[in-house]
Amino acid sequence: MTFASHFRREKQGSKTQVGSQPNSFIEYFIEREESGDSAYLAAIETLSSLKNSASDMNEFQEILLEDIIFTSLNATYYEHLFVSLKDNPQYLLKLIDRFSEDAETRDNEIALQGQDHFNYILNRGTCVGCKSCAHHADVEDLVGKWEEENLDFFITLYIGMQTIQYGLDQLLYDLLPSDASLVEKISMESILEFRQFVYKYSEHKLNE
Ligand SMILES: [Zn+2]
Repeated sequence: MTFASHFRREKQGSKTQVGSQPNSFIEYFIEREESGDSAYLAAIETLSSLKNSASDMNEFQEILLEDIIFTSLNATYYEHLFVSLKDNPQYLLKLIDRFSEDAETRDNEIALQGQDHFNYILNRGTCVGCKSCAHHADVEDLVGKWEEENLDFFITLYIGMQTIQYGLDQLLYDLLPSDASLVEKISMESILEFRQFVYKYSEHKLNE
């Protein structure tokens, strides 16, 4: 899967839901939320420290945008990893370890791609040419929102993406190593369903 519109997919709703089959990943997410070890609250804390670190509103909005792009790109790498776990269950722990060890290299790569998209949005959807031009279309939705200075939109998106990020980390570093048989439950559909559920959950909590 390409970087493709994560933003859009998160908002798409229930069309791609697997139906009545229980999703073990969603069940685990809810369990963690209820146990007080909440991905949503972790996202809220990240937002608040981000806000405190910004010197003014303008800087805050720019960091928000940067992080949204970063997290979305990062989620693509997680998707690839989950698929390779499913394909190579015998190497589960090894693959998870390697993914964790590669974090810095991956972060640097993502930061470079993210910077290209960030510039594209700040330049109101124009680019004279960069390495990520082929994928600017994926962030097209954000250009208009940025021009509107729609802070609520960006905060909701930020919290949604961060909650998904923390949720995926819980699956990867806590759930799967403790119960390797769950690898079988991985599919593009189950992960997408997980992401959509978590996004809606965080959106709902934010509006409570
Ligand atoms: Zn470009």
